[in-house]
Amino acid sequence: GFDMTKEPIPVVPAAHYTCGGILTDLQGRTDLPGLYAIGETAYTGFHGANRMASNSLLECLVFAMAAAQDIDIQIKKLPMPSRLPEWDDSCVTDSDEEIVVAHNWDELRRFMWDYVGIVRTTTRLNKAKRRVNILLKEIEDYYSHFHITNDMIELRNLTLVADLIIQSALARKESRGLHFMLDYPKSDDKQPPKPTLLTPPNYVASVIVEPPQRLQASLG
Ligand SMILES: Cc1cc2nc3c(=O)[nH]c(=O)nc-3n(C[C@H](O)[C@H](O)[C@H](O)COP(=O)(O)OP(=O)(O)OC[C@H]3O[C@@H](n4cnc5c(N)ncnc54)[C@H](O)[C@@H]3O)c2cc1C
Repeated sequence: GFDMTKEPIPVVPAAHYTCGGILTDLQGRTDLPGLYAIGETAYTGFHGANRMASNSLLECLVFAMAAAQDIDIQIKKLPMPSRLPEWDDSCVTDSDEEIVVAHNWDELRRFMWDYVGIVRTTTRLNKAKRRVNILLKEIEDYYSHFHITNDMIELRNLTLVADLIIQSALARKESRGLHFMLDYPKSDDKQPPKPTLLTPPNYVASVIVEPPQRLQASLG
């Protein structure tokens, strides 16, 4: 809707790749048997602290093929999963708090943009961490009291990913690739560059050895 002969065209930065994700091996296997991750959601080790330009779509194709071939082999060996119990929502009620979900969604988006954007500082990341902790607590309360909605599940997932991004950023005391910290503007070249690994349930940050040992060590 902008007429460039009469007015300037707004230019804003936009996120177009998530550096990081679920750790996989070269078949897209995660450490949970039967769970594969490929594409935007995966950390395959192809990219470093920055994305290899234009390789994300190619990565999707390559890993889709590798995962499909592996699934074809593995599926014959895997036992049938047991039947999931019926979802029991007899103890929760309908929520009239949809506005809270919408508000929290906006809030998350806003503080991630402001505090966990291109230029970061430890102070801003800590501010974001405090806010994400409040959201996580509210979401947990919401989960145990009300019927679950798609928006709620997406908010929970977004908040969890935001928390992991903040924790990873706080653990890295240097600037490297697309990660820029005003407090640590230079790369720490005293040691080899290492990815950050967050392991559930507490997601305590640790660094891992470089591929290919990384994948063998982590996935066995
Ligand atoms: C602006 C921009 C420019 C880019 N430019 C390039 C480029 O030039 N070259 C390049 O290689 N890469 C580029 N990329 C990156 C590349 O597009 C992505 O890495 C790639 O599309 C990821 O594919 P994907 O299938 O993993 O995820 P997606 O393409 O995000 O697909 C995920 C799908 O899952 C669906 N979905 C989400 N939640 C649910 C749910 N609960 N149930 C069912 N479905 C769901 C979504 O609707 C979506 O269709 C760009 C990305 C952006 C945003």
